[in-house]
Amino acid sequence: MRMNIAIDGPAGAGKSTIAKRIAKELGFVYVDTGAMYRAMALYILRKGLDASDEQGIAAICDAIHVEIRYCDGEQQVLLNGEDVSTQIRQEEVGNMASATSVYGCVRTKLVALQQQLAATQNVVMDGRDIGTCVLPDAPLKIYLTASVETRAQRRYRELCDKGISCDLQAIMKDIEERDYRDMHREISPLRQADDAVLVDSSDMTIDEVVACIIGLCKERMA
Ligand code: C5P
Repeated sequence: MRMNIAIDGPAGAGKSTIAKRIAKELGFVYVDTGAMYRAMALYILRKGLDASDEQGIAAICDAIHVEIRYCDGEQQVLLNGEDVSTQIRQEEVGNMASATSVYGCVRTKLVALQQQLAATQNVVMDGRDIGTCVLPDAPLKIYLTASVETRAQRRYRELCDKGISCDLQAIMKDIEERDYRDMHREISPLRQADDAVLVDSSDMTIDEVVACIIGLCKERMA
């Protein structure tokens, strides 16, 4: 039986960490759709376009080729043949991705690629619109969230551990702004699909969230 798992939720809820673990345990392919929006954003940045320039962005969309490949089980993102997996993690690229993912020209292109990836293999796919738009028939949909405070604290600790100096209040403000943009955009806003299971990870460990979702998956497959 085909068993795609859709995981949606706001920034910093732990989607990618959890989705990666679940994919590994179940032998599914992990697809990080945020990375695709980031790759397009990197191209837009390199072209020196402004995030508000929808026409300019629409005009270059056809020149952007995003591909996903796997190396030792790790997802790599190729932008016109170049591996940009590391560059797309920069803060500037994340902000550009958040601002340009509102455009129909950007979303149409990436949704088609995401649906292709899920058509032939079992995937654990994370993003903002997977359960509502990309894989509306996924047998298991999760809406993974956590309070803004918890998400900001996690990000703060992550950056401190890397030796990067940061400000908790600024991180919280950034998360709130990103949530607002993702939830209020016109096309495919972030929302819990009607048939998605809500998992609030504020007071859960990673292991607990993984066990909970794998349990749900096994129930659905039985
Ligand atoms: O998840 P990540 O932070 O890497 O995603 C970057 C941005 O891409 C998000 O802020 C969101 O605006 C956008 N995105 C989206 N739909 C998805 C995945 C990401 O709009 N399925």
